[in-house]
Amino acid sequence: MSATVIDGKAVAARVREEVALGVAEFVATHGYAPGLATVLVGDDPASAVYVAGKQRACAEVGINAFDHRPSAAVSGADLAALIAELNDDPAVSGVLVQLPLPDHLDGTALTGLVAAAKDVDGLTPVSAGLLALGRDGLRPCTPSGVLELLASVQAPLEGAEAVVIGRSNLFGKPMAQLLLAENATVTVCHSRTRDLAAVCVRADILIAAVGRPRMVVAEWVKPGAIVIDVGITRLESGLVGDVDFDAVRERAAAITPVPGGVGPMTIACLLRNTLLAARAQAGV
Ligand code: NAP
Repeated sequence: MSATVIDGKAVAARVREEVALGVAEFVATHGYAPGLATVLVGDDPASAVYVAGKQRACAEVGINAFDHRPSAAVSGADLAALIAELNDDPAVSGVLVQLPLPDHLDGTALTGLVAAAKDVDGLTPVSAGLLALGRDGLRPCTPSGVLELLASVQAPLEGAEAVVIGRSNLFGKPMAQLLLAENATVTVCHSRTRDLAAVCVRADILIAAVGRPRMVVAEWVKPGAIVIDVGITRLESGLVGDVDFDAVRERAAAITPVPGGVGPMTIACLLRNTLLAARAQAGV
């Protein structure tokens, strides 16, 4: 068997088109565009590239991007005041504080100050709580993108055995919650899991988010499983995922490549969250 390779770029392009249509409709109804405020502290070059990519993507779908760049020496109090100002600004639908923050700032506490209604990253304690309780709220972008990729291959989630490798707040935990909400039977693995291979081989849906190049080998994969590779490691040869793609594609029914799988979905879901936030704030 050779797996269907899930084309994340194509799925992301479709999501972006839907968002662009939704934004046009929003502007026609309300007379203003949704807005995303990005807060980039200091001059870390990698963070600057990520923020520029997000702002470009906003422009492409008609979302206003508001660029805030406090210096690396900004105090926690001043950054908190900026976040409070953006929380209160009606032109701003979503607030994104780019991580990591400089060492003297408490990233968890400061990002937690973003109002839940504007938390387009979906990572504040309030958003995480709403997800855990199964209540409406903005969902984290990368796990939402994975759900979209699973839907693109009509993956049956109800009753499926889903295994997530990785338990980070950024990805593994919210991914598990989203799969539970879809009625999958979910197992979350981590560095202390005993006999990871034996757990993985039970999975109908196997999702790897660790950051260890090609750790998921063919023998860990149930024939016919759907394999989603979230991991990204930059090697001299290029970007590499957590899954041994060439071997696993011979066993799986569907698989995401790295690059070009999960990666493109993250920004697409950020744009969608910004539109959803704008709609909710406008009462629609
Ligand atoms: P993280 O916070 O470092 O979490 C990694 C997880 O992997 C932890 O739960 C860790 O377990 C677990 N782990 C480490 N070694 C393991 C092992 N040998 N066996 C089983 N589990 C092991 O990372 P993250 O932020 O979740 O990101 C994970 C990967 O996804 C990274 O490569 C990151 O670059 C990538 N990523 C990609 C996107 C995207 O847009 N494509 C978005 C987010 C993340 P412990 O908890 O026990 O330490």
